[in-house]
Amino acid sequence: MSKPLPQPNVVTQRFWSSCKDGRFEFQHCKTCGHSQFPPRLTCTACHGADLDWLPSSGRGTVYSFTVVHRAPLESFKADVPYVIAIVALEEGVRAMVNLRDVDPETVGIGMPIEVFFEPTEGEYPLPQARPR
Ligand SMILES: [Zn+2]
Repeated sequence: MSKPLPQPNVVTQRFWSSCKDGRFEFQHCKTCGHSQFPPRLTCTACHGADLDWLPSSGRGTVYSFTVVHRAPLESFKADVPYVIAIVALEEGVRAMVNLRDVDPETVGIGMPIEVFFEPTEGEYPLPQARPR
């Protein structure tokens, strides 16, 4: 059994295409200036539909995290224990990613991270984070 792969839709297609090009992008509302992630059809602050895409530096810090000890699927069993983190990117948006290349015992709130892209068996790489 393989791991689930990204399934882009009309709202997320731009994000996944950017990942293929090595960029982590988020939405920015041209009407009110609000930045948001994950991608949505409209602005979560003003409900406007005039959204732009901006690239993130990929740098940020751990906002919150959990250590997974019981794999949710057979295909994740070899990975446990692993860290799922909500990271706060420099641009002010937060994203949920796997925190890789780290001993789960050493992860803490505020740990500096950087986003990188891991190839998958599918068309789109997955954004991941690691300590920087
Ligand atoms: Zn807005």
